[in-house]
Amino acid sequence: MFLKEFKNKEVILRGEKIGLGESKLIKIPVDRLPTGTLIEIPVYVFNGAALGPTILLQGGLHGDEVNSVELVRRMLIDKSYKINRGCVIVVPLLNVFGFLNLSRNMHGKDVNRSFPGSKTGSLASRMAYYLMKEITKNVDFAIDYHTGGEQRNNFPQIRYTPNDENAKKLAEIFNAPFKFGSKIIPKSFRNECYKYNIPVLVYEAGESLRLEENAIQEGINGTLKILKHYNMINEAVKTSGINASIEITNRKWIRAKVAGIFNATVKNGAHVKKGQVLGHIMDTYGETNVEVKAPNDGYIIALNNFPILNMGDALFHFGF
Ligand SMILES: [Zn+2]
Repeated sequence: MFLKEFKNKEVILRGEKIGLGESKLIKIPVDRLPTGTLIEIPVYVFNGAALGPTILLQGGLHGDEVNSVELVRRMLIDKSYKINRGCVIVVPLLNVFGFLNLSRNMHGKDVNRSFPGSKTGSLASRMAYYLMKEITKNVDFAIDYHTGGEQRNNFPQIRYTPNDENAKKLAEIFNAPFKFGSKIIPKSFRNECYKYNIPVLVYEAGESLRLEENAIQEGINGTLKILKHYNMINEAVKTSGINASIEITNRKWIRAKVAGIFNATVKNGAHVKKGQVLGHIMDTYGETNVEVKAPNDGYIIALNNFPILNMGDALFHFGF
């Protein structure tokens, strides 16, 4: 695990100082809408009196991934960030613009493909630049909350950079239903953090533009386990009756061999046997019925909820 000793410090954000034992809400002005309205991003800093790690909890990097926003927000409402050791920096909604436009992107660009960003680039590029410079470079590790795409539902899972041993250990502590090492994507937040030796857990759960209680709760539970592990909170965290996270070593997408209407017959997260029927693709008139079968023993780690298919469309993300 981490070899360094954690020492949270006074946080300075936009000229405001948050000393040890202090908490503050800082609103960072980002840009103006064409109407002139100023857009600000709220950042909460909970700086504990005793020394411990500094952690970034980040929701809504993709604006339409509302489970990520809700779970961070709910922890604020529940007063889960009563931090007595270390520091937690909470960004409930990074991409305000995408949120307003029901879009993953920020003015048409994906912030998570815009790192390291620049001071004078597009809004997404500036956002990436300042997120690293002002916030992330000062943290020991980060949890970046996401969801699947529209109607593509991820069963709660943690992704980490495969050769990052600290991230792997953090994933064990978080204990989501599934976990796996996942290649870093160029220009992503996780890639940029990796350059600075800042481990990132990417929590993926549910689908965009839809709240899902299980996805929210698993995210909250995992985050509390991390905070509790470092004795940052006093609150008891429920651990009994929770199965150990299942490590996925291989993944593939099962795709539609024909076009048609898709009906899944297994639930997301299910363990299935090789050859088991996972669903059916039928044409509109009941002439054909093509079975979709499991290629191996394994787990359904994401499920397509959209019924109208073209050939080649993704049906299941399959882990084994
Ligand atoms: Zn995302």
